[in-house]
Amino acid sequence: MGGAWKHSPFYMLKAAKQSARTACRKLLDFLFPRRCLVCGAVNPDGKYDYVCPECEGEIHMMRGGHCLVCAEIVGMPDAPNVPFCAKCAEHPPAFRRGMAVCVFDGAARELVHELKYKSTPAAVNDIALIAKSHGEVAGYLKDSILVPVPLHRSRRRQRKYNQSELIARALAKNFAEENVKICGMLARIRKTGTQTMLDREARAKNIKGAFKCIKRKCESVPKNARIVLVDDVMTTTATLSECAKELKKSGFKDVYAFAFAKRM
Ligand SMILES: [Zn+2]
Ligand SMILES: [Zn+2]
Repeated sequence: MGGAWKHSPFYMLKAAKQSARTACRKLLDFLFPRRCLVCGAVNPDGKYDYVCPECEGEIHMMRGGHCLVCAEIVGMPDAPNVPFCAKCAEHPPAFRRGMAVCVFDGAARELVHELKYKSTPAAVNDIALIAKSHGEVAGYLKDSILVPVPLHRSRRRQRKYNQSELIARALAKNFAEENVKICGMLARIRKTGTQTMLDREARAKNIKGAFKCIKRKCESVPKNARIVLVDDVMTTTATLSECAKELKKSGFKDVYAFAFAKRM
């Protein structure tokens, strides 16, 4: 059956389209070489596609000295982590623990902007590579189901993709050995606008009731699974916490949060 399909005109057309696309990309790379998003230098063979070797130091990885819930920095990078910061103690989010790979500045900010606002889905590969280079991500994601923070369908239509879903997919692929799966079981049912200018309280209010579990997908995941919500950037915990609340309403108890970058 599989073999016969490979000789069908549809398959051959698909394969031809794919090789044309690869050739196009090579030509584009030649005509418009990829540049480092930080310094603008041509970057033909760095470790990352969009960050040159000189600017790799502009990726500020989260090490020690941060809150294990909201990832807020509370001490020096060599200090021990704290189980929760003052903010999380006062307003505990609905998820157990949270993790961010790096600080939302320098190269990480450029990568997220490229992915989010400049229609460059390929930037997600660098994001996954950076996550892979952080020693704690594999253990954090092990045996978990990743749930990307959803976009409202109008926003998704506009952007053509959901950046958090691309990140979750890239993580599932890069951490396949850790048995990491993905299930887009949340939907954003209300447009919330940008949260950037709002303070903590206003963010929580703005995002309330914005998410809904997709019943059919929720039912396909065991209730005792380790769920890790995935977002591109964590600012306050408002969005991730609201997602966690909705998942808990559907019976999931073990809900964690993960973001590529933490905005300080
Ligand atoms: Zn550079
Ligand atoms: Zn905290």
